[in-house]
Amino acid sequence: MNKNEAINILNILKKSYPDAKCSLDFSSPFELLVAVILSAQCTDERVNKTTPSIFEKYSTPEDFAKMPLETLEELVHPCGFYKNKAKNIKLTAQKIIDNFDSKVPENMEELLTLSGVGRKTANVVMLEAFNKPQGIAVDTHAKRLSNRIGFSKETTPEKIEQDLLKLFPYNYLKDVNHLLIYHGRAICTSRSPKCNICPINKYCEFYIN
Ligand code: SF4
Repeated sequence: MNKNEAINILNILKKSYPDAKCSLDFSSPFELLVAVILSAQCTDERVNKTTPSIFEKYSTPEDFAKMPLETLEELVHPCGFYKNKAKNIKLTAQKIIDNFDSKVPENMEELLTLSGVGRKTANVVMLEAFNKPQGIAVDTHAKRLSNRIGFSKETTPEKIEQDLLKLFPYNYLKDVNHLLIYHGRAICTSRSPKCNICPINKYCEFYIN
């Protein structure tokens, strides 16, 4: 697939989903970081049902660092993998206090030093919290659709991101992940993609082949 085709596809998706945006609820960069850590292997909907009661009482790195691990495990239990997620959130909170003056760092390099924060999480934080996209978050939808449409034949999120970055200019970075998620939820679902009604089917390698 060449750049023009890829951009054309994205423009069609933009028309289909003009309001595509991050679906996690948050009111600070740290809350977003917590929400993204919780969203691993979990739906954003479930995370959004879980976080309001947590953020009502606990919202700063200090709040989470002080909280007993067992309390946090109980609070994040509905999001699955609760032991790991609670441990990472506490370690991340402490590291932000110790190394970054209690503020979520505003660059990829430092974000990637935090526990439980990989490129996907760091990309989401840079875009949604700081409006400074540095790359493209590749989650399960972005991975599946990139492979089907033909943006990338790679299988790891890191390599898929590199392929996407070769196709899309900087001003598209903020939209790619949102549009792929919206299209993945609405039409190009995991089990039964609705190719017949898909607005990009004539460009999609999965459909054409
Ligand atoms: S044509 Fe089918 S596989 Fe391709 S993007 Fe559309 S729904 Fe997905």
